[in-house]
Amino acid sequence: MTRQLHHYIAGQARPGAGGRNGEVFDPATGQVTAQVPLASTAEVRAAVDAAQAAFPAWAATPPLQRARVMFRLRALIERDADQLAKMITSEHGKTLSDARGEVTRGMEVVEFAAGIPHLLKGEYSASVGRDVDSWSERMPLGVVAGITPFNFPVMVPLWMAPVALACGNSFVLKPSEKVPSAALHLAGLLAEAGLPEGVFNVVNGDRGTVESLLDEPRVQALSFVGSTPVAAALYANGSERGKRVQALGGAKNHAVILPDADIDQAADALLGAAYGSAGERCMAISVAVCVGDQVADAMVEALAERVRNLRIGPGIEDPDMGPLVDAAHRARVRAAIDAGVADGATLVVDGRRHPCASGPGFFLGGSLFDHVQPGMRLWREEIFGPVLCVVRVPDFEAALALVDSHEYGNGTAVFTRSGGAAREYARRVQAGMVGINVPIPVPMAFHCFGGWKRSLFGPLHMHGPDGVRFFTRMRTITARWPEGAAGAEFVMPTMR
Ligand code: NAD
Repeated sequence: MTRQLHHYIAGQARPGAGGRNGEVFDPATGQVTAQVPLASTAEVRAAVDAAQAAFPAWAATPPLQRARVMFRLRALIERDADQLAKMITSEHGKTLSDARGEVTRGMEVVEFAAGIPHLLKGEYSASVGRDVDSWSERMPLGVVAGITPFNFPVMVPLWMAPVALACGNSFVLKPSEKVPSAALHLAGLLAEAGLPEGVFNVVNGDRGTVESLLDEPRVQALSFVGSTPVAAALYANGSERGKRVQALGGAKNHAVILPDADIDQAADALLGAAYGSAGERCMAISVAVCVGDQVADAMVEALAERVRNLRIGPGIEDPDMGPLVDAAHRARVRAAIDAGVADGATLVVDGRRHPCASGPGFFLGGSLFDHVQPGMRLWREEIFGPVLCVVRVPDFEAALALVDSHEYGNGTAVFTRSGGAAREYARRVQAGMVGINVPIPVPMAFHCFGGWKRSLFGPLHMHGPDGVRFFTRMRTITARWPEGAAGAEFVMPTMR
C-alpha cells in the first residue's frame, strides 16, 4: 500500500489539488512507497498567502521568544531523531547511523539559531555628530523560500529554516520530491514547538513548483541547494526578478595525498569519504590526487582491498553503504563508469559486477579507478555515486594546479604529516572548505558552509554568521533630539 503525501500550508496538512503526483521509492527494495503531490501555481500562491499573512506578527515577536521556539524544536528533534533517521533511510537509502548523524548536524543549526538575540545585536555609535547617535539593526526580509536536494532530507532544510525563522522571516520549503516525508515531519515539530500557523509551510513539487516560487513577487529570497545547472539558472532568474539568492551547487572534491602521509590512515579516511552515503554527498571525496607513483601504488592497493570488502545492504540494517536513491541515478552512475572504461582509465574494482547490483533495489558496488586523466569525463563531471578516481601527479604544485583547474571548488582535503605543506595547501587552494587530515571538512553550524567557483552562486554562505546576513537586511538609524530650532542647513551634513 502506498501512502498519499500532502503539502503543509497555514498549519494544516493540505492534500494536493494540482492533479500531478510523483512517486517516492524505497531504494533498498525498488518499490514505490508513497505518492507525493506536485504543487501547482495556485498551491504555491496559497502557501505564500499563508506566509505573508503570518509574517508581520512573527517579525514583531521578540527575538528571545523566537529563540525559545528553537529551544523547543531542538528538544523535539532529539526526541524524534530515530524516527527521522528511519524516514531518511527509507526514502534516501543511506544507512541508519549516517541518517542519525545527518539529524544531529541539522539539529546543531537549530542550536545556533537559538542564539538569535545575540546574533541580531546591532552596532551602536554614540555621538556620530554633535548630539547625534547612530545604530544599525538587522531586519527580516519577509517571505523567504528554501529549495532542497534529495541527499540530505533533514540537514539541508535545517541549514536554512531555523536561521530564517529565528531572524523573523516566514518560510516556504520546497523539499526534493524524492524524499518528502522528513520535511513534513519537521513542519509538525515546528508547530509543536509553538511556531504560529503560516510561519513555516511545505509545498511539495518539482521544477514547475520552483518556477512558481520564482515567479511569486512576494518571495523575497531564495535559498537553494542542488546541482550546478539548476543553481546557476536559479541564481540568474531569481536575481533578475529582484530576489536575494544563495544557490549552492555541485562538487568534485579532491583529496591530495602527499608522500609523507600515513597511507593506512588516509585510505581509511578516503573510504568513508568516497563511499559513505554511496557517494551521494556534496562533500564526498571523488578524486584522490596521489603525489608520486609510490604513493599512488600504495594507496590503490590499500583502497582496493577496502572497497572490495565494503558491506553493502539495506540502510536499515546499518551496513557501510546502502543503495543509490533511484534507478535513473544508478543508471547515470553506471554510464559514468562505462565512460571511464571507454576513455582508458584503469578500473581496479568494478562496482557494476558486485552481486548487490543485480538484486532488487538501486544498489551498486563501490568502484575504484586508477590512472584517471584530467579531461576524462570521470574527472570532469560530478558522478555523485560510489566511485573514487585516482589521479597521479608528480609533485605538490601539480596537485594544486589540478585541483584548481576544476570548475568546482566546494571542499578539498590534504593528507600529510607536514604542517608547512598543509598550511601552504590550505592557504592557496581555490576551494571554500579545506580539511587537513580531515576528509569531509563540513563546518559546524556556527561557522559558514559554502564552496567557491561553480559550487556556490551568490556572496553569502549557508548558516553561521552568513546565514544571519542572508536572511536579514541592515537598517541604519541616525537620531538627534534638538532642544529648539537650529535653522536650515543646505550643505551635506559633515562633522566639522
Ligand atoms: P537537483 O538540482 O536535481 O534538485 C535540487 C532541487 O531543485 C530539488 O528540490 C528539485 O526538485 C529542484 N529542481 C530540479 N530540477 C530543477 C529545475 N530544472 N528547475 C528548478 N528546480 C529544479 O539536485 P539533487 O539531485 O536533488 O541533489 C544532488 C545535487 O545537489 C548534487 O549536485 C550535489 O552536489 C548537490 N548538493 C550540493 C550541496 C552543497 O552544499 N553545495 C549540498 C547537497 C547537495
